[in-house]
Amino acid sequence: MSAELLVEHARAVRAYGRAHGRALDVLGYSPACGGCRSARCCTNDSPPLSRPEAEALAHLARVRADLADVPAKVAAQIGLLRETAAPGRGLRDRRGEFPCPFLSPDRRCRVYDHRPLACVQAFSESANRCAASTDGIGGWDIPVEVTAGIIRSAVEIGGKPVRRALAFAPTPGDGPPPLVIGLALVLSDETRHLVAAATVAAGGAR
Ligand code: SF4
Ligand code: SF4
Repeated sequence: MSAELLVEHARAVRAYGRAHGRALDVLGYSPACGGCRSARCCTNDSPPLSRPEAEALAHLARVRADLADVPAKVAAQIGLLRETAAPGRGLRDRRGEFPCPFLSPDRRCRVYDHRPLACVQAFSESANRCAASTDGIGGWDIPVEVTAGIIRSAVEIGGKPVRRALAFAPTPGDGPPPLVIGLALVLSDETRHLVAAATVAAGGAR
């Protein structure tokens, strides 16, 4: 991804985040993510990733010294997926086993300006409930699933920059891969080959 496109992506993500927050207010939601201490959505759910989002994140992982650990983390997770694969049991059936490689030890997102749209959209109305829930205890409705109405409202509020952000996002129905797989597919030949092996072992790793 070019430097210009990277800047445009960050601008679109910020614009979407602002409009999304205002849309939640307008629609009567009370997001509690400002008080989040658990980062449960970053440790339990591997967000879907579009190709442009994967390329932006892979670029950052290659050039930022503070993200030098990411390629090895991705390779380790894909290796684990391959070693422990069972037919029909993909990443999305194994919540909690694959924390986001961009999460810092103090549970912050290290790529906030370039986080996937699915991460921007994730929210909960109870940070405590998020923190208390594990592997489905407390329900899978954490975070709240973004609705077409929320997205429509964000577009109405944010206009063109928000539409631009949506253009970077996965297209609904195109079966976007979870973050770790999407990233591995663009990071290097080595991680791409690991994904291929894991996918064969699982009979479909997604
Ligand atoms: S959805 Fe839950 S875990 Fe994710 S940031 Fe919000 S409060 Fe934290
Ligand atoms: S990219 Fe950032 S916000 Fe998204 S799951 Fe990873 S750490 Fe969390």
